[in-house]
Amino acid sequence: MLYTELAKIYEQLELTSKRLEKTFILAEFFSKLNEKEGYIVLLTTGSIFPAYEEKEMGISSQIVIKAISKATGSSTDEIVKKWKSVGDLGRIAEQLVWNKMQSTLFDKKLTTGKVYENLKKAAGFEGQGTVDKKISAIAELLSVSSPLEARYVIRTVLEELRIGIGDAAMRDAIVWSCFGDKLGIKYSKQGNKFEIGDREEYKTYVNAVQRAYDLTTDFSVVFESAKKGVHALEEVQLKPGKPVKFMLALKASTILEGFETVGRPSALEYKYDGFRLMINKSEDGKIKLFTRRLDDVTRQFPEVVDYAKQYVKGNSFMLDSEAVGYDPKRLRYRPFQEISQRIRRKYEIEKLQKELPVEINIFDIIYFEGENLIKKPFLERRKLLERIIQNKKWQLKLAEQIITEDVKEAEQFYKDALKEGEEGIMMKNLNAPYKPGARVGYMLKLKPSEKEFDLAIVGAEYGTGKRSGWMSSFILACQQSGKMLEIGKVGTGIKEKSEKGISFKELTKMLKPSIIKEEGRIALLKPEIVVTVTYQEIQKSPTYSSGFALRFPRFTRLRPDRNIRDIALLEEVKKEYLRQGPK
Ligand code: ATP
Repeated sequence: MLYTELAKIYEQLELTSKRLEKTFILAEFFSKLNEKEGYIVLLTTGSIFPAYEEKEMGISSQIVIKAISKATGSSTDEIVKKWKSVGDLGRIAEQLVWNKMQSTLFDKKLTTGKVYENLKKAAGFEGQGTVDKKISAIAELLSVSSPLEARYVIRTVLEELRIGIGDAAMRDAIVWSCFGDKLGIKYSKQGNKFEIGDREEYKTYVNAVQRAYDLTTDFSVVFESAKKGVHALEEVQLKPGKPVKFMLALKASTILEGFETVGRPSALEYKYDGFRLMINKSEDGKIKLFTRRLDDVTRQFPEVVDYAKQYVKGNSFMLDSEAVGYDPKRLRYRPFQEISQRIRRKYEIEKLQKELPVEINIFDIIYFEGENLIKKPFLERRKLLERIIQNKKWQLKLAEQIITEDVKEAEQFYKDALKEGEEGIMMKNLNAPYKPGARVGYMLKLKPSEKEFDLAIVGAEYGTGKRSGWMSSFILACQQSGKMLEIGKVGTGIKEKSEKGISFKELTKMLKPSIIKEEGRIALLKPEIVVTVTYQEIQKSPTYSSGFALRFPRFTRLRPDRNIRDIALLEEVKKEYLRQGPK
């Protein structure tokens, strides 16, 4: 397929903010693809890698600037100058390619296959001469790009396509394109409405596509299967070695409310304060570890690989667990914040492993010896865990659990959990299946009420005086349909010295590569870092684009285990605002 066709679709998607219209545009486009062109579907997600892959393009703005310069003949200084005012290297490439076209004859054709291939190559180069090779691979694409194509090639390279397509729209577009005729789906652009024959039937197709995505987190595989038919979607299976989206919890405010949702009796477990870890062992004996963001962190936790080999029976499995840090000298648990650097750091692993060891608390299993267990009731899955796990305190063990229907006993368990320094408890339905990727009431979390949100940092202000040179105030955002909406600024809770926690200096260093634009003391940032922020109250505010402001916000932790997609939704903020009630 010619890349220009795809670029035109991107442009159409960029021009509308209506979710249904976007779905329709995508669906029509997908209908033109054959069952081997899943990679083009992947391109529309803004990446060349499926969501679960650890790999990223990893191409810096500096490399892109050099590639644009090489392909168009403009100087890097000129490009940087334009970039500071426009803030989008895609648009700059578009303009410069256009300028160049005025003076040369242009009759070259760029294909989607060539873009995909060159970007894969560019992301994969390693060792000597890597930078030059990357520059050449991108410049080669630009030299045969039309202006519009250049815009999207560059944005894909930088992994910021800006076409506003989320997972749900991708899923629906696959349903519409592969089963639209059968379901009688009709979209009318005028009223921005869509009609379907049978809503229930439609839901079963949506669920089939969603299920396949939850198991694979790869839209190219999902599309190619859907194209073959529902039977192929149903055949999509779990595979240890490839991560699966985690099942998420809802909140309960009291034990009684918890029992109402998960039933009596139910399983109660400690809610450990660490980070979620999926431990996969594939038939070839290889262990792989994935975080909640589905990042592959196997390399960062070699000791966990050993524990999984030593203390868990079985040739293949997929385990759901919480990794909790502890102080090896005093044998005391540590709050998540203190060990979070182990997720990010890829060097000095042995040293970190000694200083910041983790204990694995296993609480679920979804695959064992070639069998997919997600449909089995939780009680059965837990029984299996009890048979295959050898408990080894401070290394790997089963999560603490009781099964009860008694409110008093449950309350005592909750108190004990808090006394032990845990975050609270989880209440789980004994008969429930495992629902990957879903936040359903099969498990609930109960913890002392805390007013907090996970938010993205989208901007920062440089400090003055003793904080000059560092960013000292950070602009926070929640989200609505993938759009970042500002909700306040935070500086409190960040430390002057790094021994005491995350410092201004460290945070500045982490955020610098995300700078899109600087104006005076304000830096506009690509949203990449997620933080947890507590607050005292939510107020209405005309100042921020969300319409709300947090009163007395305080930074409490960095969330390297969280995706930008996981930050608080505007809906949740509104709900919390209304919950505060009238004053
Ligand atoms: P939170 O910020 O409250 O930890 P979350 O957004 O990370 O929540 P939820 O699914 O809402 O995720 O809450 C459950 C989380 O609690 C899990 O993601 C997991 O990391 C953690 N957890 C700790 N102990 C358990 C347990 N025994 N069973 C299930 N989850 C547990």
